Amino acid sequence: MPLLVMKFGGTSVATLDRIRRAAKRVGVEVAKGHDVIVIVSAMSGETNKLVGLVDETSPLYDAREYDAVVSSGENVTAGLMALTLQEMDIPARSWQGWQVPVRTTSAHAAARIEEIPPGNIMAKFGEGMKVAVVAGFQGVSPEGRITTLGRGGSDTTAVAFAAAFDAIRCDIYTDVDGVYTTDPRICEKARKLDRIAFEEMLELASLGAKVLQTRSVELAMRYKVRLRVLSSFEEQSDEAGTLVCDEEDIMESNVVAGVAYSRDEAKMTLVSVADRPGIASAIFMPLAEAGVNVDMIVQNISEEGRTDMTFSCPTNQVARAEKAMEAAKSSGDINYHDVIADQNVAKVSVVGIGMRSHTGVAAKMFQVLANEGINIKVITTSEIKISVLIDRKYMELAVQALHDAFELEKAG
Ligand code: ADP
Ligand code: ASP
Ligand code: MG
Repeated sequence: MPLLVMKFGGTSVATLDRIRRAAKRVGVEVAKGHDVIVIVSAMSGETNKLVGLVDETSPLYDAREYDAVVSSGENVTAGLMALTLQEMDIPARSWQGWQVPVRTTSAHAAARIEEIPPGNIMAKFGEGMKVAVVAGFQGVSPEGRITTLGRGGSDTTAVAFAAAFDAIRCDIYTDVDGVYTTDPRICEKARKLDRIAFEEMLELASLGAKVLQTRSVELAMRYKVRLRVLSSFEEQSDEAGTLVCDEEDIMESNVVAGVAYSRDEAKMTLVSVADRPGIASAIFMPLAEAGVNVDMIVQNISEEGRTDMTFSCPTNQVARAEKAMEAAKSSGDINYHDVIADQNVAKVSVVGIGMRSHTGVAAKMFQVLANEGINIKVITTSEIKISVLIDRKYMELAVQALHDAFELEKAG
């Protein structure tokens, strides 16, 4: 039997009605003769609620218990989806991560999937089960504890299952009808892409476009999974949505494929640190050890042997970063006058593989922002992306202005 993976995100399973609608979509594929693995997220808002409960109970929580709590939203939807399918006379059962088992590392709250042995689920397909409904986002560590894969992790569960079961396709059903040139919720001119290259999707995802979790795109690229993003709210043909595919499979494209943003950025500056060999390592080693995800880094030119070091990190890691810096200061490893945290910044990025062969994209981006009177605080570039840190209040304006300037509403 050809096997298909279908993943339904939070808004697609937010109510019993929506679960029924999703189950009907699954029924259509079963009727075509597919065995189906359905991956479900928690009902929308549920995971946030659970995270809130953990934070309120224990601000410096034990990550193993955090995972025990926040993984539970998916258990509910997996059971409800299996029941709904059974009501439609489709043989289905639910599976929690540990039952499959989805074996992961023990990095709680950010675990990586290591192995999904297909035996248990395949045996049930052999007995006539048509649909395996699997709780997304969760797995089990070598120590036997429940783990989660990081926010948005059900996408990664879906792609990992598609790879492990050699699925003909992995369909990600969500609340928009595909991948757009930018978030359609903040730019009404955003255009849906029929295809996007793995590498571009990877950059867009890691720079904030939450339509797919970054790790899911990495896995799809590595295991050659046919990955598609489409809407669970509309009738769908086999050509609907956006196909994430190899660069070679895309006939035409713009130099810039899309614009991404990330709202939850903070800019930290260590004022007046000694400019000496080893200073960067003395600052960034303790940050890494404290689990701070440093993104952009700038070191100012030095004056009289002292310099300022600026870096960005997620807003919810500022307290951790400050603590690590204070500890490094009191142990004498670094010396600074002050540490300033600016929590009102956002990152805006333009992404496109065309940048490899076209010059002038950065210059144009900076000019567009200048014309809007937006000050750039930090810049980073790679071969296929340019990111800037700006005041958060200009974030939407910047996204829209860049979308206009690079004419992303027009197909390349
Ligand atoms: P789900 O709950 O189905 O996993 P998410 O909320 O995680 O859905 O992801 C879908 C959302 O991603 C969309 O509602 C949209 O606002 C946002 N998004 C951001 N950037 C893009 C983009 N380039 N294309 C499509 N959606 C995007
Ligand atoms: N429910 C989890 C989250 O909100 C996982 C997911 O939806 O992908 O992050
Ligand atoms: Mg998601």
